[in-house]
This record gives sequence, structure tokens and C-alpha cells, in this order.
Amino acid sequence: MINVSSVSLPPETEELVLEVLRSGMIAQGPRVAELEEAFAAVCGVPHAVAVNNGTTALVAALQALDLRPGDEVVTTPFSFVATLNAILEAGATVRFADVLDDFTIDPAAVGALVGERTRAIIPVHLYGLPADMAALEALALPAGVALVEDAAQAVGARFGGRPVGSFGLGCFSLYATKNVTSGEGGMVTTADDGLADRLRLLRNQGMRRRYAYEIPGHNYRMTDLQAAVALPQMARLKEINDRRAGNARELTAGLEGIAGLVLPAEVEGRSHVWHQYTVRVTPDARLTRDELAARLAEAGVGTGVYYPRLMHDYPCYQGHPLIRADGGTPRAASLVHEVLSLPVHPALSDADLRRVTEAVRSLLGED
Ligand SMILES: *Cc1c(COP(=O)(O)O)cnc(C)c1O
Repeated sequence: MINVSSVSLPPETEELVLEVLRSGMIAQGPRVAELEEAFAAVCGVPHAVAVNNGTTALVAALQALDLRPGDEVVTTPFSFVATLNAILEAGATVRFADVLDDFTIDPAAVGALVGERTRAIIPVHLYGLPADMAALEALALPAGVALVEDAAQAVGARFGGRPVGSFGLGCFSLYATKNVTSGEGGMVTTADDGLADRLRLLRNQGMRRRYAYEIPGHNYRMTDLQAAVALPQMARLKEINDRRAGNARELTAGLEGIAGLVLPAEVEGRSHVWHQYTVRVTPDARLTRDELAARLAEAGVGTGVYYPRLMHDYPCYQGHPLIRADGGTPRAASLVHEVLSLPVHPALSDADLRRVTEAVRSLLGED
């Protein structure tokens, strides 16, 4: 079976983790500080604050902005549910802007929702493709609205030469399947000294020095054990993302020209880090998306549907007082029926990639 994701850790990871275990200092310490430096360097900002997961990174970023009840956050409905849960946790009201055909948030739709009460915009760099940060910055800056990037899937990606995570507050996940993993982990990046200071306080019970509490905080800390798992991958980030990009090129070369199959676009001026290689199976295809996924599984090719429904399209969110889903998001609503992610991870061999493209071609192609 060729799985849709695979965890492959560089060999030097074991030694580094053992070193932490033997040091007797296994909570937040020097390895976390090193990992923060590595993220700050990749994002081209002075500050990175490590936290215990990507959802926490989003919550902490929003808490750092000191949102008040009634404040609004505009985001995409086409993301992992953590984006939504983080906004609700922070106590803000959520509004949804539709997405473009490249799966990222539509700046024009965001512009139509930005008003008096808007405090933040959360674009999601879905599958590793940066959203249109220039257009979003042009909306946010003059309006005094914060940009909080959900860069959970996009470590190392760039927009117009600028790294994601450098446009405001950047939120990353180091979950097991992400491009860089620590098992569980998260990171918030920023160029703003004041926000970085607040994030460090929020992470550690609001404490400046031992028992000197300045704000009500939480325990969002990462451990040195986690940091030791992620550090070797950060040193090889270019290699990891280049491999994914190479695999994506192979998939595209092998899948071009199949009726009803829309391949993921590379967008001029944006570097894609291929967390997922996501095709669209449209009504013109010989099989439905779900039929194709089932037949591929029979052929030993794993796939994933990210995501089968819009974030708030579940009974537990119906009528939620903090969700304003008026207006509708028709493009996102139709994409959830069409998306299918194929294996693109760095552990794939050339033979694996050929098996993936040949399996899709034989199921959908004109043969
Ligand atoms: C993974 C992910 C998150 C949440 O990160 P966790 O580390 O799982 O908490 C948030 N947003 C997106 C888009 C993600 O893919």
C-alpha cells in the first residue's frame, strides 16, 4: 500500500532525542529555543514562539491581539476545523469568505466582509500554497486589521519572495503528518516585539518571572523532547520541500490530459510546498471522486479527502452564536465534493509515483 502520508525522520533525530532524555531536562529548554531560532530564520522575522500544537498557535495568536466579544475574524470555510475552533476559543465572531479555484481565500470576498468590527483576517495556505498575501495585506493594513496566517501546512513556502509567517502572526503546526513534525507541536512567528512578548507570557501562565503574573495565561509550552524531533528536519527543510516539489512535478507530468481531472496549479510568484497534491475530480470524469478513491485503495494507492465538508457544516456548529455564515460560499461548497489528495510525501520512490499516476490513468483515462 502506498500511503497518502508517511513520517520519515532523519537518522540524526534519535541521537538528539536521547541527548535530551539523558540530560534530565525534558520540558521547555535549550532545544525549544533552538527550534524557535530555526523557525524565525526560515520566516525571516525576529521572533518565533513555540507552543504545544498548531491549534494552540492560532488560539495564542488571537489572544495576543486581545480580541473583545463582538470582534470579527474573517476566514475561509475550506480548512481543517482547528481554524474555526481556535477563533471560537478566542471568543471572536467568525465570518466566512469564499475561496478561489486554487483553494485559497478570495481577497475580493474578504474585502466585502471587512468592516468596523473586523479585527483579524486568517488566510489558510491550504495544501502548502500561499494565499494572495499582497491583496490581503492591501486590505488589512489601511483598515488596521491584523493578518494571522494559518501556515500549518506551509512551512518554507513563499509569496513574492517573502516567507509565509512574515506577514503578521504566522501559525504553524508540527503535527505528525505535516512537512516538519515533532509529533505534536506548534509555532507562532512575528516581527512585532510587543506581540512576541505577549505570546511568551500567554504561553507560560502570564508569568514574567517566577510567580510574577502580568496577564491571565495558560500552559501552551512545548518540550525539548518535541523540539529535538523537529530540529533535524528544520536543518533539511529545503531538501524535504524540494523532494515534495519534485514528486508533484512527476505527478503532474503523469496525469496531464485526463478528462474531468483538474490538476493543482502552480501560481506565479508563489512557491508551493506541496503538503498535499490535491486534484479535483469534476462531473466530467469517468468516476465520481469517491468511486475513484475506493478503486485506488483497491489498487493499493492511498488517498485523502481534505476536507469532505466545510468547517462549520456539522450539527455542533449549527446556530452557534459566534458563527455568522450568512451569504454562503458556493465555490468552497462545491470543492469539498471534488478534492482528492494523492501521495506526494518525500518517502515515495519513482516506482511509487509511476504506480500512482498509472492507477489514476487506467481508472479515468481514455486508455
Ligand atoms: C494541522 C492544521 C491545524 C492544527 O494543527 P494541530 O497541530 O493539529 O493542532 C490548523 N490548521 C490547518 C490548516 C492544519 O492543517
